[in-house]
Amino acid sequence: MNNRTFSGKVALVTGGTSGIGKVTAIEFSRAGANVVLTGRREKEGEQVVAEIKKLGGDAAFVRTDVAKDADVKAMVDFTVDKFGRLDVAFNNAGIEWKGPLDQATEAEYRRVFDINVWGVLNSMRHEISAMLKNGGGAIVNNSSVAGHVGLGEVSIYIASKHAVEGLTKSVALEFARQNIRVNAVAPGVIATDMFDRFAEGASRNQITSMIPVGRMGASEEIAAAVLYLCSDSAKFTTGTSLIVDGGWVAG
Ligand code: NAD
Repeated sequence: MNNRTFSGKVALVTGGTSGIGKVTAIEFSRAGANVVLTGRREKEGEQVVAEIKKLGGDAAFVRTDVAKDADVKAMVDFTVDKFGRLDVAFNNAGIEWKGPLDQATEAEYRRVFDINVWGVLNSMRHEISAMLKNGGGAIVNNSSVAGHVGLGEVSIYIASKHAVEGLTKSVALEFARQNIRVNAVAPGVIATDMFDRFAEGASRNQITSMIPVGRMGASEEIAAAVLYLCSDSAKFTTGTSLIVDGGWVAG
């Protein structure tokens, strides 16, 4: 990647106010894209925009709850109004869930699926409509190693990320002839706020000892995979899921 890889392109990142989304928005900008980042937290979103502008890029934030159709439609409309088109999208917004299955509530299930599954599905619907107007595009959905394996006491999250994997494959096939590529990235353990919440109570040593490379991943390492999948270097790659996990799933 260099500062021209996405020059003239417009990138949309959901959940861009923190963690993997924030870093990926900044990396898209460094690679030349105009960036729209979305999320529910306006102050944090505007801080990321300011950071991108300070680095010489152009970006805008639009407040969006990906669980709400009107918000998602408005997010894509805002992108096209602001920068004239949409070329690449990273559907990253998501929430975690853990707990014993017999204590899971319907409300928890619906919340996780509204954000992690409907949020991704609906973002793709609106993004693809915009991308078709300029001849195609590339989408990456943020899945997880939890989309590839089962784990005890994480059932709702696991189910939601398996759904993201299935959606990615099927939407990729549906739009392959229309020059729209759809892939997933499947991060392992990445040091973010979400992981801190998820792993509360567990020791860092215990966690890192389970990762073959012996450390947690960084958001930059996921951003690199997302930019690759969105770039022309990956133009024959669609319907796949790139696991970036320090070897954890292989073990
Ligand atoms: P994070 O909590 O920092 O980021 C999640 C982002 O999604 C936040 O910006 C949050 O505000 C946003 N978000 C949540 N609900 C939303 C909604 N309804 N509408 C709009 N935005 C919403 O954590 P992260 O680790 O950066 O997570 C990003 C993605 O990476 C998630 O989809 C997560 O499942 C996935 N992931 C993370 C890890 C990890 O170890 N951190 C591993 C695998 C997958």
